[in-house]
Amino acid sequence: MDYKKLRQEMVKDQLITRGINDERVLATFYKVEREKFVPCDLQKDAYGDFPLSIGEGQTISQPYMVALMTQSLELKGCERVLEIGTGSGYQTAILAELTEEVYSVERIKSLSQKADSLLKKMGYSKVKIFVSDGTMGWEKYSPYERILVTAGAKQAPQPLINQLKDEGIMVIPVGSTYSQELKVFRKKKGRVRSKTVERCIFVPLIGKYGWSEGVGNE
Ligand code: SAM
Repeated sequence: MDYKKLRQEMVKDQLITRGINDERVLATFYKVEREKFVPCDLQKDAYGDFPLSIGEGQTISQPYMVALMTQSLELKGCERVLEIGTGSGYQTAILAELTEEVYSVERIKSLSQKADSLLKKMGYSKVKIFVSDGTMGWEKYSPYERILVTAGAKQAPQPLINQLKDEGIMVIPVGSTYSQELKVFRKKKGRVRSKTVERCIFVPLIGKYGWSEGVGNE
């Protein structure tokens, strides 16, 4: 399969036409090989306009949603970013292309290990990955200029708000277990304001400040 061509078509047909216009973000989506982050039998669909299964009941998000979340972070290149929900590692690679320091937390060990070895193999050696409940953040390296949550929360977890630096931005899907709104939180002088950028559907954010295990499976 000509993945390069599929990647170029994805950027043009799914991202640019829907308003993704940050040149650095677009260049990254032209570059990162999404097919490497999906199971072999799904590689032919890697550039489809939909999420794909990555095992353990989890998904790699639709390319447009990854691009919209990334663009909403307004990365300039020197920010310390915390990602919650490493999943396949695709979004992590996108972030690592766009900024200096990336920290990523995943609660499922097998996904985390797979993403970690793939990212290292692909040369993203500076990314730090941790298996834990990401609703608690990753205190050790806080505060973060940017936080991205890639699973659906019932509300923005307080530890993440606390670990967000002043003038920082947090992007997070908030809503029910079945549908959410993608929200952008901005912290200014200790106060946090949010706006909604899109409707979305994510797997649930499970943890102490998220949903209980087993939710969404009933
Ligand atoms: N960004 C990922 C990618 O590019 O493949 C997709 C992430 S997937 C939509 C959401 C991920 O969040 C899942 O891998 C899930 O296990 C993880 N997750 C859910 N709750 C979590 C938590 N409390 N802490 C860390 N990861 C969590």
